[in-house]
Amino acid sequence: MDYQNRAGSKFGGGGVASQSATNADRRERLRKLALETIDLDKDPYFFKNHVGSFECRLCLTVHQNDGSYLAHTQGRKHQTNLARRAAKDAQLGRRNQEEGYTGANAIQIRKNVVKIGRPGYKITKTRDPITRHQGLLFQLQYPEIAPNVVPRVRFMSAYEQKVEDPPDKAYQYLLIAAEPYETCAFKLQAREVDRREERYWTWFDGDSKEFWVQITFKTEREERYSGVPGLGGSGVRR
Ligand SMILES: [Zn+2]
Repeated sequence: MDYQNRAGSKFGGGGVASQSATNADRRERLRKLALETIDLDKDPYFFKNHVGSFECRLCLTVHQNDGSYLAHTQGRKHQTNLARRAAKDAQLGRRNQEEGYTGANAIQIRKNVVKIGRPGYKITKTRDPITRHQGLLFQLQYPEIAPNVVPRVRFMSAYEQKVEDPPDKAYQYLLIAAEPYETCAFKLQAREVDRREERYWTWFDGDSKEFWVQITFKTEREERYSGVPGLGGSGVRR
């Protein structure tokens, strides 16, 4: 076993033991204090997984106990991600307003948009003839799409979506929005999508009103070496 990379491996070194005991005391005190003041049930990023460890859905980190999770929420990584998320939400709020939503009292009121149902669609499995990469081609028909609207695409993780509960992280969702149609979501394996231009593209044909989305999955080998955040280490913080 590689003790150097093991979390909390400071045991055994004579003088260090008393130091780590002090730290353990301190952690325990902080944990109790935090548990009294923070309601984990109301933390949208707190998640207890099936093996009994705790995950931060915001940072995609794993923690051995609730105390470790709470310590993480006070750390810089989590705080930075919180700030980033807040900025993103503010930006989204502004965009919604421009598009005719109002964020007043946190209730989104939609102006004059009557949804006309879901678009027709066709999905084709694709495989690159040379590289053998697997992918999917989505073709959606939007004959009644509003003038000057181009369909928009967004990927959503199992934890972001609110439709399926409990979330299953084996899946991700591809959302396609085009007014006045209902936004539709396709449930996909949670494999990493190759975002390079030739592998991932969208095209809206203004004449036929057909929207194309081509996605290509990375191979397992590519995923392993791409340094995806949250997959590299266990993310345990002390
Ligand atoms: Zn976090």
